Amino acid sequence: MEDRPVWYAAAGESIFSQGGQGKTAFLIESGEVEISTTKNGRKLVISRLGPGEIFGELALFSDQPRSASAKATCDSELAIITPETLRSAINSADPVLASLIRCNLGRFAWTQRYMLQHAAPSHSVLALDSVAASERQTEIEISTGIAESQFRNFYQPIFSSETGEIAGFEALLRWYHPTRGLVTPGSFVNVAEQTGQIIELGSFALREALKDLRRFQDRLDNSGGKESSSPLFMSVNLSVRQLLEPREIDRLVEIVRDSGVAPELIKLEITESLLVDDPAHAPLALEHIRSTGVKLAIDDFGTGYSSLSYLHLYPLDTLKIDRSFVQGVRKEPRRMRILRAIVHLARDLGFSVVAEGIETEDELQAIRELECDLLQGFLLSKPIPAELILTRLQRGSFSLPFWKKELI
Ligand code: C2E
Ligand code: CA
Ligand code: CA
Repeated sequence: MEDRPVWYAAAGESIFSQGGQGKTAFLIESGEVEISTTKNGRKLVISRLGPGEIFGELALFSDQPRSASAKATCDSELAIITPETLRSAINSADPVLASLIRCNLGRFAWTQRYMLQHAAPSHSVLALDSVAASERQTEIEISTGIAESQFRNFYQPIFSSETGEIAGFEALLRWYHPTRGLVTPGSFVNVAEQTGQIIELGSFALREALKDLRRFQDRLDNSGGKESSSPLFMSVNLSVRQLLEPREIDRLVEIVRDSGVAPELIKLEITESLLVDDPAHAPLALEHIRSTGVKLAIDDFGTGYSSLSYLHLYPLDTLKIDRSFVQGVRKEPRRMRILRAIVHLARDLGFSVVAEGIETEDELQAIRELECDLLQGFLLSKPIPAELILTRLQRGSFSLPFWKKELI
């Protein structure tokens, strides 16, 4: 990397801003640069970098907007690194070294983005230390939990909007913690994502969910099938981490094949972070999984970038509209109009649409007017253990009592 162009940044000068576009990275020759991000409206300084350190490198292999801001804290000399300089440096390296660098750059890009999204909203190194210690503790406890089978799936019923019948379930992990009692994913999924333990938990959740779906369907059939006229489906959440390694994708495909469940009754829910963070790898991973016949759902639609272009770029079948969109649809006409446009477009393109997080009668009424296919939310049912699902299927007590009500 000879003859690099140089930027002489004055003290206080902004080098780039979060959300901005840019294709270059910078190597600090002299001076100091502060890297910060904004989380919940607060500025969080992530690091201060000095000579010999590099920043902005995500832009070299991703078209996404800058995920942090950079500012010179004193007069600084910055060597500018473009994608071309990097490419020619990698290409002239030993082939083994070059492929090692390429592979690790991909993984690094993912981890970096993940860390920024989950950065603690605090400036204090002490606070960060204690967060790290508590995360380490959680990691150890998760390992024990896996070894001692403390994890279970709960299932949240999902209903047909047309008939009010139960149509399927979403599997949601729960941790029967020996001292804390029943723990929801909010307290462990982030740590499990960082440590990679989510890979083990995720394949456990899928295997368990498919086994339980067979029990649910058997119970339904044996109780005269009062609850549903079509076969029940099972939705399972997948972490991006499960899709980064080809070996893990093979494992998922194997679990699906060994389950004995018709693949079209299995829905794997992914969040758009996979599509955003790993645009080169995502279509291949998704195609491979989909070749088994399973359906793919995009979860939490309406948060993050939420680009409708995903709908034709990737082999997806279902759109799950996030709770934040569903909340208050009645109160905000604009939100309702956006939602209506999304639902119509998605349905026109042949996608099924699930509205998540329906908590009130008002929300239900509004969502039913939008003609979403499937409905999910605390109003209809909370996530419950498998045994309770079996009892309710037996009793025929899943039907929605308010279905008889006329729509406005
Ligand atoms: P998610 O995939 O968006 O799942 C829906 C979450 O919303 C669940 O929270 C569910 O209990 C909650 N929910 C459903 N209806 C309502 C409602 O009407 N109101 C409100 N306030 N909440 C509602 P939960 O079970 O705590 O799970 C949180 C997240 O943890 C999930 O969000 C998912 O991202 C993650 N997760 C759960 N199980 C797994 C798993 O097996 N693998 C992976 N990778 N992630 C999982
Ligand atoms: Ca989900
Ligand atoms: Ca969701």
